Amino acid sequence: MSKRDYYEVLEVAKNVDDGELKSSYRRLAMKYHPDRNPGDKAAEEKFKEAAEAYAVLADAEKRSLYDRFGHAGVRSSGAGAGGFDPSVFSEFGDLNDILGSMFGFGDLFGGGRRRGGPQRGADLRYDLEITFEEAARGTETAIQIPRQEACDTCKGTGAAPGSTPSTCSQCRGQGQVRYQQGFLTVARTCSLCRGTGKMITKPCATCRGEGRVSRERKLTVKIPAGIDTGQQLRLANEGEGGSAGGPAGHLYVVVHVQEHAFYRREGINLFCEIPVNFTTVALGGEIQVPTLDSTESVKVPEGTQTGTTLRLRGKGLPEVGGRTRGDLFATVQVQTPKKLTREQRHLLDELSKVLPKEKFEPRAHTEQDERNLFDRVKNMFG
Ligand SMILES: [Zn+2]
Ligand SMILES: [Zn+2]
Repeated sequence: MSKRDYYEVLEVAKNVDDGELKSSYRRLAMKYHPDRNPGDKAAEEKFKEAAEAYAVLADAEKRSLYDRFGHAGVRSSGAGAGGFDPSVFSEFGDLNDILGSMFGFGDLFGGGRRRGGPQRGADLRYDLEITFEEAARGTETAIQIPRQEACDTCKGTGAAPGSTPSTCSQCRGQGQVRYQQGFLTVARTCSLCRGTGKMITKPCATCRGEGRVSRERKLTVKIPAGIDTGQQLRLANEGEGGSAGGPAGHLYVVVHVQEHAFYRREGINLFCEIPVNFTTVALGGEIQVPTLDSTESVKVPEGTQTGTTLRLRGKGLPEVGGRTRGDLFATVQVQTPKKLTREQRHLLDELSKVLPKEKFEPRAHTEQDERNLFDRVKNMFG
């Protein structure tokens, strides 16, 4: 079965704004909520479909990926994809939590739902700075992240090994307390057991009953060649541990690439300025242009002017995950000698006698010229 378009699922136009998107999702979620349609498989599917669509369209980054690439753009595919993970939404518990936190329903739906069930751990962000060379070649680096993990001693339950949690006395194990408000019956998460329905009588000594412990974890991160500042890698399930057996969150490694002393980067292309002797550009010759891997010999034609840009194909950066490579653009900067020996001066004197005088070629006066002149005058007088 092919997937329906997310906009179609949420019954909104492509240019929908956040408010309209939210209210349309809310309407559909209320309509198809499993608590309102017990045993109705079709409604359940519609409910899940809407939640999945909303999770993508409500997130600006995911929405733009979806707009450009469709479902393929937001499909989860392990580390580095940064996509939407449908498994997160496979449990009603999570769906309800999303709805609850979004609209502040809390437990208004009532029904058989229990808070404190398996919950997905939080996503973590790690900012990683790498050198320009590392970004160009790709690298593997070890990072250390402090995070919450399920306690080994109690397997995350929070109860001391050998002890059994007792049933909560306030909600009698329901996890919710119901009360009448007008003509509505409202269910609220039990404050005593925080929705688990259970009371830990003998807390685990390792985690003091929390079920989770803080731990430093060492991870190896593979940085693909060609990565740029702001791009992020997703390490699935390397975020914080879930509670009560829920899945772990994801870890997002946000990459920052240091500037290079010589190259300037634009996408996969590199730019640099290369000093060339005035005799070389006048006579033509060969210059050495430093590239990422070595140096490249480049021919400079006779009469090359300063500011001329030479293009070295395929000497730029690789495209992340792709096969193409950018180009290197080297702009010629003609060097004028600053100190001359007696002999050099003599040779240049001789040369200047035979060279034609500079010819000033007037051209049409533009607005830009005026602005430049104005700027120069302004600079001169502060
Ligand atoms: Zn424990
Ligand atoms: Zn309780």
